[in-house]
Amino acid sequence: EAGSGVEWDKETLLEKDRQYLWHHITPHNPNPMIGVSGEGSWLTDIDGNRYFDGMSGLWCVNVGHGREEIAQAAAEQMKTLAYFPPYHSHVPGIRLAEKVNEWLEGGYRIFFSNSGSDANEVAFKIARQYHHQNGEPTRFKFISRHRAYHGNSMGALGATGQANRKTKYEPLGTGFQHIAPPYCYRCPFGQKEGDCRMQCAEAYEDVINWEGAETVAAVIMEPVITGGGVIVPPENYMKRVREICDKYGVLMIVDEVICGFGRSGQRFGHQNFGVRPDIVTMAKGITSAYSPLSATAVREDMYEVFKKGGDSHFRHVNTFGGNPASCAVALKNIEILEREQLVERSASLGESLRGKLEALKDHPLVGDIRTFGLIAGIELVEDKQSKAPAAPDKLAHVISECKKRGLLIGKNGDTVPGFNNVLTLSPPFVTTEEELDFIVLTLGEALAGLLVPAEGA
Ligand code: PMP
Repeated sequence: EAGSGVEWDKETLLEKDRQYLWHHITPHNPNPMIGVSGEGSWLTDIDGNRYFDGMSGLWCVNVGHGREEIAQAAAEQMKTLAYFPPYHSHVPGIRLAEKVNEWLEGGYRIFFSNSGSDANEVAFKIARQYHHQNGEPTRFKFISRHRAYHGNSMGALGATGQANRKTKYEPLGTGFQHIAPPYCYRCPFGQKEGDCRMQCAEAYEDVINWEGAETVAAVIMEPVITGGGVIVPPENYMKRVREICDKYGVLMIVDEVICGFGRSGQRFGHQNFGVRPDIVTMAKGITSAYSPLSATAVREDMYEVFKKGGDSHFRHVNTFGGNPASCAVALKNIEILEREQLVERSASLGESLRGKLEALKDHPLVGDIRTFGLIAGIELVEDKQSKAPAAPDKLAHVISECKKRGLLIGKNGDTVPGFNNVLTLSPPFVTTEEELDFIVLTLGEALAGLLVPAEGA
């Protein structure tokens, strides 16, 4: 079709890309991959090269690429009703709210937005307003963690605990305090794994007291810090934080943007830890990224204080929030997850991946391997004794060697000064055992390249 761009060759596309497009994270990348198609767990670029999508895009294409029935669901909804303002209702929105509540095991109200960042902004605003209307208007602070990522907007970035993402944009949304993450490999409290008093969780009580409980609105946490380096907490960490929150009337916001919708091996990450959050935020996996959508789920009884009319309204609207086609896509995506039992499959693939990754643990530069559901982080060090974080060029080498062999993997971004040393994996739930073998074998080959002595050495 003339004008569609399909007729352009690669050089023309790259020329126009360099001329017009502003990329995310690396705006001046002169040689971006140009993806053209996807099927299952595999992507094809403009040169016809095939790659295994070891990160499911950005931790999101959970049901895999090329799902015809999702495209159909979007097309049908767009033909039937493209748009309806979100202060009214529509059929896919109603059905999806019921379904999300069911996946959360009941008891929540669902507010739809467009992105993970949006969902967290909504959570912060609801938490503050809730306290206001409950007669505690001084509760405005949020406690988050260093290394966490909660989004790119001024509030969500305020909650984010990765210094290099924040400098140059400050001042951000204020009122965000950060505490040390539950990082057992490098315990911030100097304890040995399995032999600690979980000071990482107890720290919440200290911070709440030091700040003054009457000023603290909520804590926000991912069940497992994902993009910040796959930091898996001790088993009872979330439960202990929940207890502390209850003791001080502090709300618990759980960011399930990555962990939600099966990535953790359960429907939601927090379900692995036996806690009930007050607010749950979700995005990515809700549509497997076929269309933008996010949600903020709020405890039913909290919703009561917003129902009284007038001043109690939550005066927040965004035009595209809960877009009908996105809701239809989410419903089809969840139907696929249920029909193909992909949450169970994510759990068993995750177990299998954990076992297979053992093969890499004796590599001299592999400091720690951490997994959670179908998420893995491989922390590279200069040597196992000192645990000095591996230099960024070593990670770049592994990533590029994997790519040469047809495997796309990720790493925690260039965001935590001195600690950009965790390779990440988050493959689609439709990955096969053979493909897991391919991932581990390829990683092994790429890591082996780090041991070749430099010429002349
Ligand atoms: N929370 C977490 C845990 C995330 O990983 C992300 C995105 N990587 C976000 C929030 C923000 O989501 P979005 O990019 O859709 O705004």
